[in-house]
Amino acid sequence: MQVFEFILDKLEIFEKMYDVIRLVDPARKKVLDLKGHQLFEADIPCYKLWKERQLCENCISIRAFIENDTIYRLDYKDDRIYIFTAIPVVVEQKRVVVEILKEATNSLVMGVGEGVRGAEIFTMIEDMNRIAVTDHLTELYNRRYIDERLPVDILNASEKKEPLSIILADLDFFKDINDTYGHITGDEVLKEIAKELKGHIREGKDWVARYGGEEFLICLANTDIEAAKKMAEKIRSNIEQNELIVNGKEIHLTCSLGVHMICGETDDMNFDQAIELVDKQLYQAKKSGRNIVK
Ligand code: GH3
Ligand code: MG
Ligand code: MG
Repeated sequence: MQVFEFILDKLEIFEKMYDVIRLVDPARKKVLDLKGHQLFEADIPCYKLWKERQLCENCISIRAFIENDTIYRLDYKDDRIYIFTAIPVVVEQKRVVVEILKEATNSLVMGVGEGVRGAEIFTMIEDMNRIAVTDHLTELYNRRYIDERLPVDILNASEKKEPLSIILADLDFFKDINDTYGHITGDEVLKEIAKELKGHIREGKDWVARYGGEEFLICLANTDIEAAKKMAEKIRSNIEQNELIVNGKEIHLTCSLGVHMICGETDDMNFDQAIELVDKQLYQAKKSGRNIVK
């Protein structure tokens, strides 16, 4: 018996537990269907279910896929609450995700105390989903977001045959900033740098995330290496030229940036190579004396 039919069969007794069940290729963002013995991509983007026209932020199916674990999410849209479950499965040697959706607006009882109204619950859910992919200090996206989003962007770019570029920026001698001005000021500097980086990207197309301590990753959609290097150079010179005033102190710092263009042909979900290559570029920039784009 086909795996998907088998799953449906098993779930039949829990029919009341779901409104929608479907099979999804989370990397390609496509709903899958079975015809005979063949698994194929129905020409429906998976986010259509949400009446969205683009990728969902914090996609739990890609997380289920990457972590090979079942992931749950509460969501809300148009004043309705949904419970959404993503289960990784293997069908015809292909790793895909079973998505189960249940509308729970009227059946969900939340232990949030008295006096909490619907609107507040909606806000809570929205906040929870946002927090999962946000770096709490800089309010940029966090490492989890990179892990979930970059593989998808790589695949999209390769399918559309568009260039995709990434920039990895690391602040120079940041330890000295902490040693000289203290960690709290160091944190404020990171927030200022985050604002600077955000100012360079195209909202809704590109994204910037905090990769680690004082390292940031910028992902530029449909951007070739020349354009990406130009942007990196602009970031570098802005940071070098604009003294930061933090807690009343004037702080001068620089940063080194590595740039890498990801060229198509990447059909798997492994984005380690892209990170490794951009990191190599950054290492070259550091080795060449810092405050440099490579
Ligand atoms: P370079 O990159 O130029 O080689 O020198 P560096 O001094 O910046 O060295 P490195 O990148 O290895 O060190 C990063 C320092 O950033 C170490 C740590 O004290 C500091 N750091 C990391 N995360 C945070 C943070 O969240 N807040 C503050 N204030 N400092 C942080
Ligand atoms: Mg570093
Ligand atoms: Mg550094």
